[in-house]
Amino acid sequence: MSTIFDKIIAGEIPCKKVYEDNDILAFHDIAPKAPVHILIIPKKSIPGVPSLQQEDDALMGRMIRIANQIADTFSLENGYRLVINSGTDGGQSVDHLHFHLLGGRSLTWPPG
Ligand code: 5GP
Repeated sequence: MSTIFDKIIAGEIPCKKVYEDNDILAFHDIAPKAPVHILIIPKKSIPGVPSLQQEDDALMGRMIRIANQIADTFSLENGYRLVINSGTDGGQSVDHLHFHLLGGRSLTWPPG
């Protein structure tokens, strides 16, 4: 199933891009929940965490390392949060796996 993120990857919908390589795209969230709110997505259409296959392990590892590199470019030296929402109770609204990189303020715990 095609999602809004597939359209962003295809360039059919614009985004404020912060990182791109052959496998990964990162861009500003359209409705930021923190001063820095970046979405990091695989270009491969993976609906969510439950759909991950063993062959995706290296990609997921790279996405985490890229997230940390992006955090560095935004000078989030005080820390940040990397979040994956999964399913209805997890608050997932787009069925294309993505990490939220949130930072730039002190984030409370637990989330609501
Ligand atoms: P989820 O709720 O699935 O964890 O996260 C989806 C995120 O995608 C939300 O934070 C939402 O603001 C963001 N989003 C939805 N549509 C668009 C869009 O067209 N452009 C961008 N940049 N972000 C979007």
